[in-house]
Amino acid sequence: MTIVKEIKKSSKLNNVCYDIRGPVLELAQQMEEEGQKIIKLNIGNVGVFGFDPPEEIQLDMIRNLPNSAAYSDSKGIFSARKAIMHYCQEKGIQGVTLDDIYTGNGVSELIVLAMNALLNAGDEVLVPAPDYPLWTAAVSLSGGTPKHYMCDEAQEWAPDIADIKSKITPKTKAIVVINPNNPTGALYGDAVLKEIIALAREHGLIIFADEIYDKTLFDGVKHTSIGALSTDVVTVTFNGLSKNYRSCGYRSGWMVVSGDKSGAKDYIEGLNMLSSMRLCANVPGQYAIQTALGGYQSINDLVAEGGRLRRQRDLAWELVTQIPGVTCVKPKAALYLFPKLDPEMYPIENDQEFIATLLREEKVLLVQGSGFNWPHPDHFRIVFLPHEDVLREAIARLAKFLERYRKK
Ligand code: PLP
Repeated sequence: MTIVKEIKKSSKLNNVCYDIRGPVLELAQQMEEEGQKIIKLNIGNVGVFGFDPPEEIQLDMIRNLPNSAAYSDSKGIFSARKAIMHYCQEKGIQGVTLDDIYTGNGVSELIVLAMNALLNAGDEVLVPAPDYPLWTAAVSLSGGTPKHYMCDEAQEWAPDIADIKSKITPKTKAIVVINPNNPTGALYGDAVLKEIIALAREHGLIIFADEIYDKTLFDGVKHTSIGALSTDVVTVTFNGLSKNYRSCGYRSGWMVVSGDKSGAKDYIEGLNMLSSMRLCANVPGQYAIQTALGGYQSINDLVAEGGRLRRQRDLAWELVTQIPGVTCVKPKAALYLFPKLDPEMYPIENDQEFIATLLREEKVLLVQGSGFNWPHPDHFRIVFLPHEDVLREAIARLAKFLERYRKK
């Protein structure tokens, strides 16, 4: 007789939540297995929507494949780190040497690594609401406590500085700034970034700056790296090839430590140790970095007037905001809309259930606002990566669903 012993997941996962790939996606997968066709506007997986990576990146990776079979230095190959160092210079992040740069299997791996190296039980990290939820999940997984500060929809989703101030405690170790932001598409002005730096300086916080969409910018706006606005505050800036270079599957990202590192030696030792423990990042993906950063920036064609991404952003925003009771700050950057539903017209109690019902009834998959740690059941995220005809169909179905919802 075999004894069946229950195998349970670690209690470390008790507070960890990553709803972008959560229960509603499971329902969608089940529906697909039953043969139903679903329009998916749920994940910023650029490659599945017919956006190819620049050809030169693919060619260079293929060319370098024979050189990629060995582990590299755990921080990354020379050519990649050199190109990242130059990129930091271009962006005005000062004093970055090769030693301050770590390549990773996407930004995702480095986010978890950076949190694991920093946090003890009870340490607090300020994370935006709404956020890209891996940040909240990584803080929790590392034993820390995420404290969400609000971004203000009335101020084009800028971080609410007063709210940040009110949430700083003696346990606060760091603040996360996602700029350009997922899910809101906001781009932060220098003034707000300087206010965040001032708070970090006053309270001895590390700044974690997720800038993975820093070239996916519309309407001629410019991106400022928060790391370029101070030479003293320790700042870890994250970026990668997934979005700007449409290469999510190549798993290629990096992080850069800048600022006055004299007080952060122990933390940097932690980063080095965890970086060595995972040996190195995917080496073919590292080879793509120099080619990408130094090559033709085709993202600029996609976001320029008449470019595919720009047209899709404009269309999705126009169609969504024509629906009664739906408003949306027009995104200046990234790949998403984060519309608001008027709570009087749409009295939603559970936004996950709302999004699941939309999926069941209209076969359109979106992500509910609470999946991004937004505290009210009145927002959802749309990915505007599909072609215009698909966006039209999906948003028409959403409008039909909302019309029925209003009449209930
Ligand atoms: N950071 C943000 C803000 C994102 O939106 C994403 C992916 O959607 C990531 C990080 C993860 O990027 P990577 O593919 O480099 O792991």
